Amino acid sequence: MKTYKIACIPGDGIGKEVVPAGQEVLEALAASGAGFRFEFTSFGWGGDWYRAHGKMMPDDGLEALRDQDAILFGSAGDPHIPDHVTLWGLRLKICQGFDQYANVRPTRILPGIDAPLKRCTPKDLDWVIVRENSEGEYAGVGGRAHQGHPIEVATDVSMMTRAGVERIMRFAFKLAQSRPRKQLTVVTKSNAQRHAMVMWDEIALAVSKEFPDVKWDKELVDACTARMVNRPASLDTLVATNLHADILSDLAAALAGSLGIAPTGNIDPERRYPSMFEPIHGSAFDIMGKGLANPVGTFWSCVMLLEHLGEKEAAARLMQAIEEVTADPKLHTGDLGGKAKTADVTAAVVSRLKNR
Ligand code: ATP
Repeated sequence: MKTYKIACIPGDGIGKEVVPAGQEVLEALAASGAGFRFEFTSFGWGGDWYRAHGKMMPDDGLEALRDQDAILFGSAGDPHIPDHVTLWGLRLKICQGFDQYANVRPTRILPGIDAPLKRCTPKDLDWVIVRENSEGEYAGVGGRAHQGHPIEVATDVSMMTRAGVERIMRFAFKLAQSRPRKQLTVVTKSNAQRHAMVMWDEIALAVSKEFPDVKWDKELVDACTARMVNRPASLDTLVATNLHADILSDLAAALAGSLGIAPTGNIDPERRYPSMFEPIHGSAFDIMGKGLANPVGTFWSCVMLLEHLGEKEAAARLMQAIEEVTADPKLHTGDLGGKAKTADVTAAVVSRLKNR
């Protein structure tokens, strides 16, 4: 029987609750005749590791992950460690080390979820946001000088390369082509940013010629926020820079009902390295350790993980179980206005997988 090696990195905060829940659901899926099994390896990296070792993960951490088939990640963030240290020291180290240049974020209103857009039905909102995940505003280029003095200077330079933009555009067009509506919106800001974003637009146009069956348009990022709220059905697949997509996908998650539901995949489309799947929420220290975290974002991330492994049937079964559970308001966690605990939602998904 095929065995998939999965690295689990719970990280910090509620990551330590939702990743074990995800693992439990994947185990249940495998045990219910899926035709494959999992071999999980857990890595205790994150804030606690930092306190003990002065870094978020060991220097040779990537080596330990390299031969895994996929990574299930929780979150990185600690109230006592600066955010840029936790982010760059773990999540970005893995994303950049493994060149996971495509960050894919599906958004749908799942059954039973009360989303804030009153005129929007679930069929009006079915998006996938593709985020450039390797360069742009988060390239890490910049510096600070004269710290603390009146003449202090600080820069964060956004860096875009032709190769980087071409590969993310090609990925986004291909993804749009695989979806029923075959429609892509290229998010830009080339009116104000007249160098890199103009190149971004030019490359979008050039790559579009390879995909004559994909209908595409361009939208300024500010206008895009309004369009997401006012005309959600006019969007399908979107591609945006690292920073723009970061912001748009939080908006997307909120419009779909809660940050606790939304999944994401950090993908190396060339499959040279393992890809990494995670809920989009952070560590949520306000609710950690209380069993209140909504695990649905992690479960949906597990669906993406299974799709990436080519296990389409198992992925569909898990998604159906998740949707049956969200359809029942008694199984909603606090973020959705309910009273259910992480363990209740997990047990409900597991029992639906067993009874199938
Ligand atoms: P970080 O700094 O690591 O990004 P954060 O606490 O600033 O974390 P998030 O964790 O992304 O930000 O979420 C903001 C708030 O949304 C949390 O404080 C929490 O109340 C709520 N929230 C996020 N994820 C969940 C979840 N899975 N279940 C329930 N509530 C959640």
